[in-house]
Amino acid sequence: MSKTDWITQELDGLKQAGLYNRIRTIESPQGAWLVVDGKKVLNFCSNNYLGLANHPDIVAAAKKAVDTMGVGPAAVRSIAGTMSLHVELEKRLAAFKGVEAAITFQSGFTANLATIPALVGKEDVIFSDRLNHASIIDGCRLSGAKIVAYEHNDPKSLEEQITANLSQFRRALIVTDGVFSMDGDIAPLDKIYEVSSKYDILLMVDDAHGEGVLGKGGRGIVDHFGLHGKVDVEVGTLSKAFGVMGGVVAGNAVIVEWLRQRGRPFLFSSAVTVPDAAACLAAIDLLEDSTQLVDRLWSNAKYFKAEMANLGFNTGVSETPITPVMLGEAPLAQQFSRELFDAGVFAMALGFPTVPQGKARIRVMISAAHAIVDLDQGLDAFKKVGKNLGVI
Ligand SMILES: *Cc1c(COP(=O)(O)O)cnc(C)c1O
Repeated sequence: MSKTDWITQELDGLKQAGLYNRIRTIESPQGAWLVVDGKKVLNFCSNNYLGLANHPDIVAAAKKAVDTMGVGPAAVRSIAGTMSLHVELEKRLAAFKGVEAAITFQSGFTANLATIPALVGKEDVIFSDRLNHASIIDGCRLSGAKIVAYEHNDPKSLEEQITANLSQFRRALIVTDGVFSMDGDIAPLDKIYEVSSKYDILLMVDDAHGEGVLGKGGRGIVDHFGLHGKVDVEVGTLSKAFGVMGGVVAGNAVIVEWLRQRGRPFLFSSAVTVPDAAACLAAIDLLEDSTQLVDRLWSNAKYFKAEMANLGFNTGVSETPITPVMLGEAPLAQQFSRELFDAGVFAMALGFPTVPQGKARIRVMISAAHAIVDLDQGLDAFKKVGKNLGVI
């Protein structure tokens, strides 16, 4: 017996259950088409909603910044890693989103790990949507606060949990995903805000899949619901629609100032690189110049979903460009994904524990980078594989 035998057994178990993650290698820039493991395939997998990950203006901005400012920040933000580009990025993000202040982090994941433990601790309670993202859950656990889950997207359940629990704790926080990435549904933030306001509780939304997607010209979920100035913390990512890498907390200036003092990934992990910051700034320029890419994303999504429904697929409850294709059991979803890949379409199968047991699916990520001919090619492949496997 070796001390790692248990890991080998666990891995074998995952493989037998069809839950083992086979990680593909991308050999081309991000775009509508990718070279994956040597094969050119249509990209239905990435979060490159606006096609910015390889946009010429953004690439040029990153190159120029490297030529003048170098690559790495060589320090954490609070020691010597805050460069003029980081400060400019935070100012521009705050203006773009119409909030008092913004602070950036290395990723959306670290933004959550920074924010939640800075706002609540052992004597406090967090009301958390049952389907919140892993990084929210980890942030909640790190805080040491009592975590009370409420039913998914259910403000009534939230209020019930608040009335049952609030009085036993010092402070409270309500936290929800903005767009739920597995189903593509949107949190009823207007209703959740009403509840938070009635009980005077801090409200935090993680809008990773809404940043650059929802609201006017991609200004996010707070803009989508017209809740400017009412949501205390809006977490976003610069790693999805923005096409780069990074996280942001936008909102209340006092909270942003507090995160500069107490956000542990800000204090103890180095700042994002020069080209990252410059590329994010160029992404804001593009989004502020025109809503064309965001409009294209939504028209592509509408077209693809309508055609999938015509073919007889169940695309679930999505209200966003995220298009789940519900299949049931994980092995079927994996088989479907493999056959799509053989037909030249790269679309990911998602199974337990990413989604609940029996709710395995293929998730199609639509992008403004897709042309209608690309979407048509994808639809043909879905039709062929769906018939072959008896799904439609
Ligand atoms: C993707 C995602 C994150 C992580 O963002 P990164 O910038 O990739 O770390 C956080 N929260 C939610 C809801 C996400 O969907």
